[in-house]
Amino acid sequence: MVAQMKVMLATPDDTIHFGRTLGGELRAGDLVLLAGPLGAGKTTMARGIAAGMGVAGRVSSPTFVLARVHPAGRSGVSLVHVDAYRLGGDLSQLDDLDLDTELAEAAVVVEWGEGVAERLSDDHLIVRLERHDDDTRTVILEPHGTWAARLAEARLAG
Ligand code: ADP
Ligand code: MG
Repeated sequence: MVAQMKVMLATPDDTIHFGRTLGGELRAGDLVLLAGPLGAGKTTMARGIAAGMGVAGRVSSPTFVLARVHPAGRSGVSLVHVDAYRLGGDLSQLDDLDLDTELAEAAVVVEWGEGVAERLSDDHLIVRLERHDDDTRTVILEPHGTWAARLAEARLAG
């Protein structure tokens, strides 16, 4: 079991870069939960992940759309980006998205889904972002299931 991993992110570019590296690791069936308060950098991280996966389409904070599918690019893995912010904590609508079906052929990255989305798979990675008074961020990786071993292999800290 790998302990939590903690990395300092001084700028938005650091968040993007970290996301890119993580995105390069993602395969179909991977579930990543982006946790942390409003403004912590979750969507920025999702943008980095999308860049690392090479998927098509701009990652935004969908105001009206709960989930957006980004078709696969060079890596052959598509990305389903879910932003449950507008559900205001009533995450029952997540069930309507059939994310378990999506997981069969895509990597699924969920903002604001903690408490519900992790039920989709015992195998998931929680990426927790903290914002500090000096505006820097810390990212804490909480691996579950096979992610513990995978993190030990991945070069995410460098
Ligand atoms: P969230 O999706 O968690 O609400 P966003 O990704 O929209 O947060 O980011 C909020 C703001 O924080 C953006 O202006 C973004 O550029 C900035 N930001 C992201 N990462 C960092 C960082 N490591 N240091 C400073 N600012 C950051
Ligand atoms: Mg966001």
